[in-house]
Formats: sequence, structure tokens, C-alpha cells
Amino acid sequence: MIHEILAVGMLQCNCSIFGDEQSRDAIVVDPGDEIASILAILAKHQLRVKAIIITHAHIDHIGGAQKLKAATGAPVYMNARDQELYDQMDMQAGWLGVPTPDRTEIDVAAREGDSVKLGSAEFHVLDTPGHTQGSISLWIPSEDKLIAGDTLFLDSIGRTDLPGGDYEQILRSIHAKLLPLDDKTVVIPGHGPNTTIGRERARNPFLRGL
Ligand SMILES: [Zn+2]
Repeated sequence: MIHEILAVGMLQCNCSIFGDEQSRDAIVVDPGDEIASILAILAKHQLRVKAIIITHAHIDHIGGAQKLKAATGAPVYMNARDQELYDQMDMQAGWLGVPTPDRTEIDVAAREGDSVKLGSAEFHVLDTPGHTQGSISLWIPSEDKLIAGDTLFLDSIGRTDLPGGDYEQILRSIHAKLLPLDDKTVVIPGHGPNTTIGRERARNPFLRGL
């Protein structure tokens, strides 16, 4: 499996580009910005995007979705509980002092239990609300990888002080959905360096006593 991680935009959101070597199909997660760079990576590997998956509707994760969809024709997946947040894109742009990006239709409502295939790999949708009400994570068991959005970070967890955030809920999500995964599962957070489930279970200061 091809997997490139590109930190995009002012807030350096980790955009993941996965490609299947046989079919040349690709999944792009969280195209927040810098769509030209994402398209260049896709072209370099001769990949066609079959799905654009959004972990949550914060502008730094979803801001480029419309442009990427327009360039590739791929459907956009997002949890419907973040639609309201997506509808407030001008407010979010105001927080950052940036122009409001063009919006796209959400084509597929991503739900707990759904999976999206890429070659022989399956991307499983896990509901992990707390950072936002519609936050999801993507677990790819055949790759031992977890795309955590802004739910779990190296030594930290997602902030819960923005609209839709809930501190008790994000802890419950991490405890119920993420910590049960195998220790060796590589965690690709929404920002910053990768970590593993084993490391965060042992050392993350926010998860002590869970
Ligand atoms: Zn966020």
C-alpha cells in the first residue's frame, strides 16, 4: 500500500494519501488545503481517487474537499453529525482570519460499522465523538494503522473547548474504540508526529487512570 502523509495549510493538518499498487485506486483523508500538492502526489503514483474521507468538519481538515472533489470526481464521506459544523464554515474561517473555502455536498454519510475498500484493505469507520460530535477515526487492520483525526495525538488528545466539543465524551471514545486496538497499531493523528496505541496507552498523560 502506498501511503504518503502531507501536512497542509496554516494549521498543518496531516492529509493521508493511500494508494493501491494494483488497481491504482486511492483514498484521500482530510484534504484541508494545498490541493495542488495532493494532486501532484496522486499524479506521481498514477492514482485515481475513489473516496475522499473527512475525519471531522473543522476547516483545516475539510477546507480543500470541494476543490479535490472537483478535480477528481470522487465522493466525499463524512459523519452527518458534523454537518452543522460544516454549515458554519464562514464562522470557522473567521476564527483563522482566512477566506471561506467553497463548500461541497457530502455524498456519503460515514457511520460506525461502515468500511471502505482499497484493494484488499478495508478502512473501518469508528465513531469517536468528543472533539466534534461527528468525529470519526479510520482503522485499517491489514496495515496496522489508525487515522485518528483530532481525537488522539502523541502525548495528547483533541481539544474540546470548541463548539461541539465534550471532554468526558472524547475520553470515553478513546477508551472504548481506540485503546482496545493492538499495541503495535500506528496512530496517524490529525496534526504532528505519528505514535502507536501501545505508547499512548502507557504514556499519554490524559489517559492515566482510564
Ligand atoms: Zn479539529
